Amino acid sequence: SNYTKEDILKLAEEKNVKFIRMQFTDILGIVKNVAITVKQLEDALDNKIMFDGSSIDGFTRIQESDMYLRPDYDTFTIFPWRPAEGGAVARLICDVYTPDGKPFSGCPRNVLKKALKEAEEMGFDMNVGPEPEFFLFQQDETGEATTITQDDGGYFDLGPIDKGINARRDIVLALEEMGFEVEASHHEVAPGQHEIDFKYAPALKTADNIGTFKFVTKSLANEHGLHATFMPKPIFGENGSGMHVHQSLFKDGENIFYDESDKLGLSQAAYYYIGGLLKHAKAIAAITNPSVNSYKRLVPGYEAPVYVAWSSANRSALIRIPAARGNGTRLELRNPDPTANPYLAIAVMLKAGLDGIKNEIEPPKEVLENIYEMSADRKNELDIESLPANINEAVDLLLEDEVITSVLGDHVLEHFVAAKKAEWDSYRTQVSQWELDSYLNTF
Ligand code: ADP
Ligand code: MG
Ligand code: MG
Ligand code: MG
Ligand code: MG
Repeated sequence: SNYTKEDILKLAEEKNVKFIRMQFTDILGIVKNVAITVKQLEDALDNKIMFDGSSIDGFTRIQESDMYLRPDYDTFTIFPWRPAEGGAVARLICDVYTPDGKPFSGCPRNVLKKALKEAEEMGFDMNVGPEPEFFLFQQDETGEATTITQDDGGYFDLGPIDKGINARRDIVLALEEMGFEVEASHHEVAPGQHEIDFKYAPALKTADNIGTFKFVTKSLANEHGLHATFMPKPIFGENGSGMHVHQSLFKDGENIFYDESDKLGLSQAAYYYIGGLLKHAKAIAAITNPSVNSYKRLVPGYEAPVYVAWSSANRSALIRIPAARGNGTRLELRNPDPTANPYLAIAVMLKAGLDGIKNEIEPPKEVLENIYEMSADRKNELDIESLPANINEAVDLLLEDEVITSVLGDHVLEHFVAAKKAEWDSYRTQVSQWELDSYLNTF
């Protein structure tokens, strides 16, 4: 790692760090903290910090509740926006370990590490670049979130039209202070909607970055009196928020998706990876699009993918191949949204792609027509399937796919499925305004 224990202790002292957040992520993708004071930092770096695993949803039962946090030294970061007065706050991202010193199988970061190890055994390093989108809404007088925006800016409009743009600027500056390389930040298509893209990195680092990104965005929006939300479809009739995921495999520093001699500049491995992703796309949707609301975004007409197909050109397909070649050669999976647990989402995408390479899964022909405008007959003819229509269908498709469930492991799978089935049940038994509007007077 880049830091030694001594480096971190010295840094903490120099920068007047008083508190450290020991962070980990639960199965549903929520970042959890165990806060310690700087006096405990040395113990923390020696993996001595314990917490009660039974207090975390889906982690452990009471009988086996002690869990240990093993910080990843390289993730030591000081939050830039705390007042130096009263001391700075830092964080360390941790893996969860059992009392007998084994990686805990319910820890999503451990799941991703396991998937990356499989890639490594094949000689591959995975690089990932995400494009998270989010909405900035006004808060009411009591600080509660609304769905009211105050701008009418469209895609790439020049500001300063609203508070949102000031907030976004501060978010970008804070991210840069924390070591992010922000490549683009812009207004998105829907009112109040924004996107911030940061540079691709090795998969584990990007998964860590996505959690940090959401936390920074929510914190700084709040300082501007705004509420940031990553829910996929907060406003009916407007585009939803996705998180396209760009991915590539490298071997000895070279991008193995690139092949100059191919018509599209793609290697055989890239084609197989596409084949694997498409084969498993319907099963991995439960992980990449894990909420009831996710499926309100995946409908025709709002720039979100609905159909299982790939294309080197058009953005209506599930997988697009951006134009860059050489080390920038990559494919973009367009259905994931920011409610996904980044560790699990990257693990299942990688697993699907590796399955394609191992089993030489040829992708179908690329689709150059706009699929949104295609007739049902034409889609049938080309054998283009749809993504699952809701989280319940998605979970059932996940359970049928042994390749994908194997990477999640029994513990994560069981708890994930139970939570999602409960979420679906709670949702489907509600009586919505739409039903009242449609039936109350008619019947
Ligand atoms: P879009 O055209 O969909 O908006 P961008 O061109 O903005 O996509 O690229 C988005 C992401 O792709 C960025 O995070 C960028 O760093 C990432 N990216 C670039 N090269 C690679 C690569 N070789 N592997 C993975 N991601 C990459
Ligand atoms: Mg972008
Ligand atoms: Mg772009
Ligand atoms: Mg976008
Ligand atoms: Mg994109």
